[in-house]
Amino acid sequence: MSRIAYVNGQYVPHGQAQVGIEDRGYQFADGVYEVCEVRGFRLVDERRHMARLDRSLRELRMAHPMTPKALGIVMRETVRRNRVRDGIVYVQVTRGEMRRDFPFPPDGTPPSVVVTARSHDTVKLEKQAAEGIAVVTVPDIRWQRVDIKSVALLPNVLAKQAAREQGAREAWLVDDQGRVTEGASSNAWIVTRDGKLVTRPLSGDILPGITRSVVVDLIAREGLGFEERPFTVQEAYAAREAFVTSASQLVMPVVSIDGRPVGNGAPGLIASALRRDYHSQAEFS
Ligand code: PMP
Repeated sequence: MSRIAYVNGQYVPHGQAQVGIEDRGYQFADGVYEVCEVRGFRLVDERRHMARLDRSLRELRMAHPMTPKALGIVMRETVRRNRVRDGIVYVQVTRGEMRRDFPFPPDGTPPSVVVTARSHDTVKLEKQAAEGIAVVTVPDIRWQRVDIKSVALLPNVLAKQAAREQGAREAWLVDDQGRVTEGASSNAWIVTRDGKLVTRPLSGDILPGITRSVVVDLIAREGLGFEERPFTVQEAYAAREAFVTSASQLVMPVVSIDGRPVGNGAPGLIASALRRDYHSQAEFS
C-alpha cells in the first residue's frame, strides 16, 4: 500500500513529499518534532504531546503552524490515509524556508509542517518486550536544553549507532558525574533491590517523555515506591530491574547493561506489569 505524507497543507505520496533545500530544518536543525503512539486507529495521549510541542515551539520562539485542534485533525487524517492501526504518527515543524542566514527569518515566514504515520512491526516489538533489550552506556555529549524536543539529534544518532555496533538496542547517556541522563531515544529507569522505581527528575538534561509521565501516574495509582532522582551506572549494574520508556517502545525491559545481566537477566516483573497496564492509564482520542 502506498504511503501518504502531509506537507505544508497537502497530502502527497510519501516518495514525492519534499521540503526545499533552504528549509531551516535541513540547514540548521532549526525545528522540533513529536512522535505520538497510534493504537486501534486512535492517538494515545494527544493532549500531552500537543502540550509538549507547544512548549518546544515557545522555548525556541517558533511560530505555531496551526491550532492544536487543526493539527490533531491532520494527524488523524494521516493515520487514516496510511491505514495505521498500531504504530506512530510523526509531526515535524521547522522555522520555515529562507535564504540561508543564522538569525531568525522575518516575522511571518511560514513554518514548515510535515506529518507522517507508519505501522509498528507488532510481532517484532512484542518479541523484544518478551526477551528484553540490551543497552550500553556512552558519554552524554549533548547541549544543555535537551528538554526541547528539537530535531538536532546528532549525538543521539552516534550513541544509537555505537549501541547497534555492540549488539545493543539502546544507548544510555551518562553525565560527567557517572549518572545516567536518559536513553538516546527513551527515558531510563531502574528498580532498586528494595523495589523502588527510580528515574531522573525533569530538567534541561532530559526530554520530558510523555510515556515517562504516564508511567509516573501509573506508579502513583498503583502505590508503588518511587524516587525521582539521578542514578549512577554502578547503581544500574546492581539494580533488580531496568527498563526504558518511549512512545514507540512503551515500557521496554532492559536485561543487560554494558554486557552485564540486570537482575536474573530476564525482563523484570515490575517492568512487565507496567507494560501490560500502560494503556489503562493512557488517554485515547
Ligand atoms: N528521551 C529522548 C532523547 C527521546 O528521543 C525520547 C523519544 N522521543 C524519549 C526520551 C521518550 O519520550 P516519549 O515518551 O515522549 O516518546
